[in-house]
Amino acid sequence: MQYAVGVDIGGTNIRVALGDEDGIQQKVQERTVKTGGSYAVSQQIIRMIKQNFQDVIYKGKVKGIGIGSIGPLNLKEGAIVNTPNLPFKYIPLIKPIYEAFKIPVKLYNDCVAAVIGEKTFGEAKNVDNVVYLTLSTGIGAGVYVDGHLLLGKDGNAHEVGHMVIDYQGRLTCGCGKKGHWEAYCSGRNIPNLVKLVVKEGIVEVKGSILYEKINNGVLTSKDVFEAAKQGDIAAVKIVDYIGYLNAIGFANINNIYDPELITIGGSVALNNEELVLTPILNYIKEYSINRIPKIVITPLKEDIVLYGAIAAVLNPPL
Ligand SMILES: [Zn+2]
Repeated sequence: MQYAVGVDIGGTNIRVALGDEDGIQQKVQERTVKTGGSYAVSQQIIRMIKQNFQDVIYKGKVKGIGIGSIGPLNLKEGAIVNTPNLPFKYIPLIKPIYEAFKIPVKLYNDCVAAVIGEKTFGEAKNVDNVVYLTLSTGIGAGVYVDGHLLLGKDGNAHEVGHMVIDYQGRLTCGCGKKGHWEAYCSGRNIPNLVKLVVKEGIVEVKGSILYEKINNGVLTSKDVFEAAKQGDIAAVKIVDYIGYLNAIGFANINNIYDPELITIGGSVALNNEELVLTPILNYIKEYSINRIPKIVITPLKEDIVLYGAIAAVLNPPL
C-alpha cells in the first residue's frame, strides 16, 4: 500500500494527515507558530510529521508529502512570501521538508490543492471542468478546464476573489484595490458590507438584533448569519444582498471557465450552507451567458485541502 502525507497550512492552524487511495487515515492539528524565524513553520511541520508518521516513512511506504498552503507562494522557490496572515516575510517549505525526509515534496496554493482533492476524492471524480471556490476569511478558487489544472505565469490564474463585482468600487479590498469580490463577501469583510448597506439605506437596521453591534463596531459575519437564521428581517436582507453579490462572482466564473460543476467550501459556506447556496442559485441566471453548472457544497467539507495535498502526491494533476 502506498501512502502520502498531506499538510494544510493555514494562518490559524496547521494540519497534517496520512492518507491513501481510500482517503484520510489519520490526522492531527496544531496552532500555527507565530514566533521564531523564517524556518519556524517548516520545523513545526517536520516535527508533526515525525511525531505521528515517522515509522511509515522510514519503512518506505510514503510516496511523498503534499502541501496546500495559504499564499502568496513562490512556486519556483517552494516558499510562502509576504503573507498577510503570518509574521514571517519568507517561509521556505519544500527544501527543509525534503531534506528532513528525502521523499518528494509538492506545494500548491490551498484552493488549488482543494480542487485536486475534489477531483480525486470528492464530487468531481470523472469531471473534467470543475471549479472549487472557498468562501472563508478570503475568497479563492482552484480550477480544472478540460482536465487541466490552471496555474498561470505566476500561479495566480484562479485569483477570483480579486475580480471586480462593483464597478463603482465602493469598498476597498485587503489587497488595496477597489470593488473586489472579497472586499464585500469574505468572512473578514462582510462587516464592511453591512456598514455600506446601512449607510446607503439599502437595509434599515433600526429594531434589528444587529443594531447595537453595528453601532459599536463589533459586528462579525457570524453575527449576521446567526441573526438571519433567527428570522431577523434586516439580517435576512443583508444575507440576500451578500448572496446577490456572490451570484455575480459565480456568474463571472461560469462565463470565464464554463465549468460542469462548482463546489463550495470555506467556513462561511460550511457554517451556513442554505443561506449561502440559495441566493446564488436564485440570482446566477441574471448574469450568466453560459449554461448554469451544478453548484453544491463540497462533500469533503473542512478536510478538502488535506485530501488535495494527499491527492497531489498519489494522483498528480496534469
Ligand atoms: Zn483584492
